Amino acid sequence: MTLGPLTMSPTRIHVWEEDPGAHSARRSPIAQPTRDISKSPLSFDVIDRAPGPYSPAAEKLRYETAIDSLIRAVDWFAEAMNGRSLSWHEDVGRTLRVTLEGGDELNAFYHREGPKKGLRFCTPTTAGKKIHTCESPDIVCHEVGHALLDGLRPQFLHAAGLEYFAFHEAFGDASSILSSLTLDSFCSNVLHETGGKINFTSRLSRMAEQFSEAVRLLNPGKSDQNCLRDAANEFFYADPLNLPFRAPATAICGRMHSFSRIFSATILDVLDAFYQPPHFSIPDLKAAAANTGKILCRATEMTPISPWYWADMAAHMIAVDLKEFGGQQTESLRRIFLKRGILSFEDLESLTMERLDSVDLKDSAPDSDRESPTATLLVDGARYGIDRGYEVEIPNQAPRLVRIEVPAEERHKYAEKIARYSIESAFIEGRVGITKNLCIDGAPLMPKNESRTFTHEVQETDAGSAVLRRVAFIHG
Ligand SMILES: [Zn+2]
Repeated sequence: MTLGPLTMSPTRIHVWEEDPGAHSARRSPIAQPTRDISKSPLSFDVIDRAPGPYSPAAEKLRYETAIDSLIRAVDWFAEAMNGRSLSWHEDVGRTLRVTLEGGDELNAFYHREGPKKGLRFCTPTTAGKKIHTCESPDIVCHEVGHALLDGLRPQFLHAAGLEYFAFHEAFGDASSILSSLTLDSFCSNVLHETGGKINFTSRLSRMAEQFSEAVRLLNPGKSDQNCLRDAANEFFYADPLNLPFRAPATAICGRMHSFSRIFSATILDVLDAFYQPPHFSIPDLKAAAANTGKILCRATEMTPISPWYWADMAAHMIAVDLKEFGGQQTESLRRIFLKRGILSFEDLESLTMERLDSVDLKDSAPDSDRESPTATLLVDGARYGIDRGYEVEIPNQAPRLVRIEVPAEERHKYAEKIARYSIESAFIEGRVGITKNLCIDGAPLMPKNESRTFTHEVQETDAGSAVLRRVAFIHG
C-alpha cells in the first residue's frame, strides 16, 4: 500500500477511490474535494470523532474515505431515483447512525432497529493483521445499499425467501458498483482495465478484496481467490429448493451471499449493455451507470412481493426500459436474463408488447390495490430447539408480468416451501438467535456464541407467541 502525500488542505482530502486491496496490492489514494456530509440528501450521524490536524495520516485516510463513501452511496441512489423522495426506513428515523469502529467481528452490519440500530463497521484482526472495514468504499457503499433498499421496500426485511435475502445483497453490491462510477478517476481505471467491456472482471466487479483476504486466512473456500464476490461470473439461476445449504465459493448454494451473485452479474451485464461507446468516454460510462441505476430502482419499487420476485423484477426492468428509454435495451435485457436463467423462454414468450405496455410507471406502490404483501406461516419450533411454533412472514402477492397464470393455491404452496428452505438455511448458518425462555435445552442448533451478531431472531411477543424476525444484514 502506498499512502502518498497526505498533506491536508482545507478543500482537498485523500481517500480510497474503491477497495484498498489485498495486503500485496499497491494502490494509492486519490485527492478529492472536501464534501460536507451534513448536506447529503439523506442524513448520517457518524458517532466516531473526526481525526484532528495532527492525527496520523492513516487515521485521516480511513475517516475521510468512510465519509466520502457514505456520500457517494447516496449520490448514485439520488440520481437513480430521479427526483422521487428519498428516506431511510421510518424506524431508522431521519438520520442513519454510523459507527466506524464497531467491534472486532470480521463483518459489517445494517440494523433497522434495536440497540445496534444503524450501520456498524468492524475492525477485525486476522493472523496478526488488522483491517478497518470502514476503510473500504466497497463495504461502506454495500451497507448503505441495505439501508437504501430498506427505505424503498421495507417488506423485504421480513419476507422469508432466498430471493429476498439475496436481492438485498445484490442491491448492496450494485450500490458499490454504481457509487464507484460517480468518480471520474475510477471510470478511467475501469475503461483501461476492461478495454471498454464493462462486464469483464475488474476492480469494478470485484468486491471487497481486502476483506476477502482476511476471510481466506480463516477459510480458503469461503471466498473467491481475489475478492469476496465477483459480479463478473458464470453463475446460472437454480431453483433455491434444489440447492445445497453450503458450497465453496466456486459454486452457488443457499447462502444469500452466494446466491446473490447471479443477480449482481445481471446488473453488471445491464451496465455493459448501456455502455456502447464509439470510443472510450468517461461521460458515457457515467451515463450508463446512471441509466442502470434508474432501471434498477424503478423496477425494485414496482415489483410485487411474489415467490418469483427475481423473474418478475427482470420483467419490470424490461418494462421500465420500454417506457423510460424507448426500449433501447429491450433485446439486451431479454438476452441477459435468459442467459442467467432468471427468465425462461416461456417467460419471454409471455412478455408480449401488450403486457409490458400495460405497466403504469406511477404504480410504485403495488401493495395498495393487491393482496397483502406478506402472509403468515406457522412453523413447528421443536426441530429448531424452540418450545413452541413460531410465525414467519412469507411472500403473498401474485407476480404482475410473469407466471401470472399459476393458480393462487400453487403459488402459496411454493412460497411456503421456499420460506421453510430459507429459514432452515439461516439456522444451519448459526445466524438465528433465540430468546432464552423459548429455548429447549440441549437442542443441536442452539447458537453457542452469545456475542455473535445474528441476522434473525425468534422473539416472544407480548401475547406469548413466537415470531421469527430479520434483525440485521451482514457483509459476508
Ligand atoms: Zn450485505
